[in-house]
Amino acid sequence: MLRVDVITIFPGLFGPFLEEAFVGVARRRGILEVSVHNLRDWTTDRHRTVDDSPYGGGPGMVLKPEPLVAAIESLAGPKGDERRTQVILFSPQGGRLDQDRVAALARTPRLVLVCGRYEGVDQRVVDLAVDEELSIGDYVLSGGELPAMTLIEAMTRLLPGVLGNPESTSMESFEGGLLEGPHYTRPATFRGHSVPEVLRSGDHAAVARWRVDAAQRATRDRRPDLRAGCATKDSAGAQPKRRRERQER
Ligand code: SAH
Repeated sequence: MLRVDVITIFPGLFGPFLEEAFVGVARRRGILEVSVHNLRDWTTDRHRTVDDSPYGGGPGMVLKPEPLVAAIESLAGPKGDERRTQVILFSPQGGRLDQDRVAALARTPRLVLVCGRYEGVDQRVVDLAVDEELSIGDYVLSGGELPAMTLIEAMTRLLPGVLGNPESTSMESFEGGLLEGPHYTRPATFRGHSVPEVLRSGDHAAVARWRVDAAQRATRDRRPDLRAGCATKDSAGAQPKRRRERQER
């Protein structure tokens, strides 16, 4: 069971995301619990102010430290060795999120995800209350809400009992440093393009070999920076994928 608390000034963005597809399934099964909190609930002034102008001037606004630190500490406790909750701030300056980090975070019992907005958050929030800053890629969004949903969705598919089969993720891209190869479904020929013969042969061992080759080829051609060639994708993971996709409906 993974418990996630999200701190945001736009809680409404999370509505359908938490109801539909695997995230909705995981929540209904009690495997995932997500609580979305409005940062303004930790303000103390009449206008529920969460931002202020930057010291030193310049455009934009900065999220104030008082409500954010109060929100984080009320959900996670004070920063330090005693804290059992990992507090993550989404930020373009953070470490790049990848599948290994997703898998490690999916094994943490409790996470607090802090969504920045405007120009970002006051640095003292990071220093006093955040354990880790994460970026989802080298581009700038207007807020940390989509990064939070990205992380939640990526973790959810790794939680035991969500995809229905523990082997379902073993053939996926980034497992063992490989991309996944191409997929085909019916019809066997579409606009003159045919499905590779081996996939229709019914020879499971040959299919498994073809998939390993295709994965290695895709990785070599498109992402040589991944640890190309260290194949751990094998025939054991070759079949269960189809079952998984059905369960989502
Ligand atoms: N002024 C900042 C950008 C702020 S964007 C800069 O130049 O670095 C506003 C908020 O959106 C950030 O505080 C962060 O929470 C979120 N955000 C934007 N891009 C992101 C990314 N690539 N990864 C993670 N969070 C991001």
